[in-house]
Amino acid sequence: MPANSGSAGTAPETSGLRDDALSSRGELTTTTPMVELIDVTKQYRSGSLSVDAIRGVSLRIEEGEFVAIIGPSGSGKSTLMHILGCLDHPSSGTYRLAGVDVSAMDEVDLALVRNKGIGFVFQQFNLLSNLSAWRNVELPLVYAGMERHTRKETALGSLARVDLADRANHRPNELSGGQQQRVAVARALVNEPTLILADEPTGNLDSSSAADVLGLLGELHRAGRTVVLITHDAQTAATAERIIRIKDGRVQSDEATSTAASNQ
Ligand code: ADP
Ligand code: MG
Repeated sequence: MPANSGSAGTAPETSGLRDDALSSRGELTTTTPMVELIDVTKQYRSGSLSVDAIRGVSLRIEEGEFVAIIGPSGSGKSTLMHILGCLDHPSSGTYRLAGVDVSAMDEVDLALVRNKGIGFVFQQFNLLSNLSAWRNVELPLVYAGMERHTRKETALGSLARVDLADRANHRPNELSGGQQQRVAVARALVNEPTLILADEPTGNLDSSSAADVLGLLGELHRAGRTVVLITHDAQTAATAERIIRIKDGRVQSDEATSTAASNQ
C-alpha cells in the first residue's frame, strides 16, 4: 500500500496540477490509480446524533482491477460505494477518481462522471417498473444525449451482452430476479463506463442467477474494466482478484485472492 500517512485529513500537496478537474479529466495514464482515497471519513448527522460510518480509509484501486470490498452489515460498505460513485461526498479526506480530485468537480461534472464514467448495479435492481427492459437500458443514453435512432440499437446490443435480447420488451415484473439484475447490468454497461460499482448485486438472487451475474462482472473485468464488488459474503468476494475487508468503517486487511494467482 502507498504510504499516504501524511497529516490527518490532508492530501500531500502536489504542484496543484491536479486541482483543475476539467484540465486533468481524461488523465488515465498507467501511473494514475482509478480510485485513490486518502484518509476519507464520513459522518452522518441527524439532529444531535452522529454516526461515524467511515473512519479514515486510504486505498488505491488501479485501472483494470477486480476488487471485492467485504464486511459485515453496517460496516460502511454502501457508504464507501456512494463515495466511490460520487453519489455522496466524504466528510473529510481526499477522493481522486482517475487522478481528479472529486471535491473540485461541480454538479455538472459529477453528473457527467456518474452517467458516462461509472456503471452502477444495486441489490434491489432499481429498474423502472413501467418501462420495458430495453427502455430501462436506454435511460442512461437519454441522459447522455444520444440521438433517438441510435439509442434503441445500443440498448438492444447491451441486452444481448447479458443474453437477454429475447426479453427486450418485457417489463421488470415479467422477468425473474436474475433476469432483472442482468437488465440492470446491461443498463450499467450501456455507456461503456470505465468503472463498475456493484453493491451486493447477488444479495437478492438464487445461487444460479448469482453465478450468472458474477460471471458477467468477471467478463467485464477481463474486458479491461475496473470492477468493485461490494458484498458481505466470502464466497462472492472470492470471485474478485483482491479483497479489501472493512469493519466499523476501517480497512482491516487488503490482500490478493487465489483468483488473482490463477490468472497470473
Ligand atoms: P453496510 O453497507 O456495510 O451495511 P452502510 O454504509 O449502509 O453499511 O452503513 C454504515 C453505518 O452508517 C451504519 O451504522 C448505518 O446505520 C449508518 N448509516 C448509513 N446510512 C445512513 C444515513 N443516511 N443516515 C444515518 N446513518 C446512516
Ligand atoms: Mg450496504
